[in-house]
Amino acid sequence: MPRGKQSRGRCEYCRYETTKGSMGRHLDKCPQRQERMAGAAQSKRTAEPLYHLRAQDAWNSDFWIDLEVRGSATLKDIDAYLRGIWLECCGHLSQFSIGGWGGREIAKQRRVDAVFRGDVELTHIYDFGTSSETRIKAMGQRMGTPTSVRPMALMARNLMPEAVCIECDQPAKYLCMECLIEEETQGTLCEKHAQDHPHEEYGEPMELVNSPRMGMCGYYGPAEPPY
Ligand SMILES: [Zn+2]
Ligand SMILES: [Zn+2]
Ligand SMILES: [Zn+2]
Ligand SMILES: [Zn+2]
Repeated sequence: MPRGKQSRGRCEYCRYETTKGSMGRHLDKCPQRQERMAGAAQSKRTAEPLYHLRAQDAWNSDFWIDLEVRGSATLKDIDAYLRGIWLECCGHLSQFSIGGWGGREIAKQRRVDAVFRGDVELTHIYDFGTSSETRIKAMGQRMGTPTSVRPMALMARNLMPEAVCIECDQPAKYLCMECLIEEETQGTLCEKHAQDHPHEEYGEPMELVNSPRMGMCGYYGPAEPPY
């Protein structure tokens, strides 16, 4: 099978762009992040184990985020973050487990430092109907002062995956749900073809956002980090 182009992402500290495979190494050396860490060490916050967690969509690994999460944070904090940046449409139920569907459920009250031990991979399921599935793994750990007063900080995120218009192969900015559901095509449209698109059963074509939940249930964004 040919290897697809590797997904690229952006460092939130210095805006540097690199591949998913190289982002961990960049974050370890990023001068702007080092500066932030030095600043945090001067703050009144206390040091604790901090976890570099990578969350990625289980079906489309072009969607990924790197977080630095406090050991004292809980899975509930991670659930809220994933809902904010990627998932929330109608307040569906969610669950963490080890071993994916039918695996062992891990309570949301559990602390990050109690869960991410060894090589564990956590699965987060949002919505048991039209489900979104996210895999979360620890990429590293350090002892230090959190750089944020929040339970976690966003360190890097994938760049918006490129989509092409089904009519003309130009870069797409919109999605037609009717194409996606009824015609079983990608449903992605450029600005021009979104304007004169004939479908309206599922509403106007909507703007593509940087989330793996695009086109699922009632999701339409905004896919902005909650903090
Ligand atoms: Zn950087
Ligand atoms: Zn929904
Ligand atoms: Zn359509
Ligand atoms: Zn087009």
